[in-house]
Amino acid sequence: MGMILLKNIQVDGIERDVLIEGNRILRVADCGLDTSKDAEVMDCTGKVAMPGFVNMHTHAGMALMRGIGEDIGFHEWLDRIWQVEKNLDQDYVYHATKVACLEMIKTGTTCFNDQYWFAPMACRAASDLGLRAYLSAIICDRGDQDLAKKQKSECIQMFEMSKSWPSTVKFVVSVHAIYSVSEPMILWASEFVRANGLCLHIHLSETEKEVEDCKSEHGGMSPVEYLDSLGVLGPEVIAAHTLWLSDNDVEILGRRGVTCVHNVNSNLKLASGYKFRYSELRDAGANVCIGTDGCGSSNNLDMLEAMKTSAMIQKAWRGDSSAMPIDEIIDMVTVNPAKVLGLDCGKLEEGALADIIIVDTDSYHFMSPGRFEANLIYSAHSDCVDSVICDGRILMKNRVVPGEKEILAQAKAHLNKIM
Ligand SMILES: [Zn+2]
Repeated sequence: MGMILLKNIQVDGIERDVLIEGNRILRVADCGLDTSKDAEVMDCTGKVAMPGFVNMHTHAGMALMRGIGEDIGFHEWLDRIWQVEKNLDQDYVYHATKVACLEMIKTGTTCFNDQYWFAPMACRAASDLGLRAYLSAIICDRGDQDLAKKQKSECIQMFEMSKSWPSTVKFVVSVHAIYSVSEPMILWASEFVRANGLCLHIHLSETEKEVEDCKSEHGGMSPVEYLDSLGVLGPEVIAAHTLWLSDNDVEILGRRGVTCVHNVNSNLKLASGYKFRYSELRDAGANVCIGTDGCGSSNNLDMLEAMKTSAMIQKAWRGDSSAMPIDEIIDMVTVNPAKVLGLDCGKLEEGALADIIIVDTDSYHFMSPGRFEANLIYSAHSDCVDSVICDGRILMKNRVVPGEKEILAQAKAHLNKIM
């Protein structure tokens, strides 16, 4: 089993030595830790270790779709994306997901919860680069019974196939949204995930139109009330957006222990809205996390940018500078995702999975007596991430990801598929 020794690294404000054995943190000890065994030693003097970020809602396969749907509203944008996606194939998804993984590593993300087509290719890409990934079969039948049948059998097949995926990649079922999936398929997916101990990933209450359409179609019920009436909401549900919520919706999401993923940059740019009800959801008992959404709408996968914007917008629209405090932002990208994904990560402690980012603080962004976390979120950019370790494997060292140029060159050759 490989060992890595991070020497003289700041952990929670104290300089320590951190020893990794296999895929877990073996020791967090005083400096000067002696390892008689062979360990790869990284001198981390002046650097800070923290848990890797978890991007709780993205579409990695859209990494080559930046800028193709600008200055248009959500529904026109979605139609355009669906047109483009008709041309996609497995190779495209493999190369696009590799680009996404590259960007995530460079910006400090060690795990992502994805919703995209051709998940087995995304599995190959994520394992090639070493990232932890939750990949899904997508249910999006749009009322077409033949398509529903096909997607159901693909989902079952993929679930069986996922049993031989690497331990860092897990299977999830995605129900695209209530407006694009028929009720029998929503119910089937919910039963399937519960029977097999999986998570259910869905876009929920993303736009005002989604809420209004749902109300007129389902006797005045909001999307949250509608799903709850079907018995679908529970702690295994990861709901992206949850932006347009009534008090009753918030209460339901809290009571059911749903994970609500805020994707501020996507919501802002598609003009879907910005009044994410963070404190209400938190206080009601929902598990609140942060995602970037796909590059087709947010244009990048930068979690630090998402964290900063989430906090800034929250403070602004509420007129309350204490809204979304620093420690809670960090929790939303570390311990909160770990809870719903059942992952032993999110904290740098002995026994935890070795999903660690190493931040270089030797720059003007960090030159202050202020808290490291404050400077990280509000002052620095993600190029402060110097090295990344996931599952005990070094994915980036001193900002170098092996094979970076080749990944970009190969992806370029597949760009024409989306034109
Ligand atoms: Zn999305």
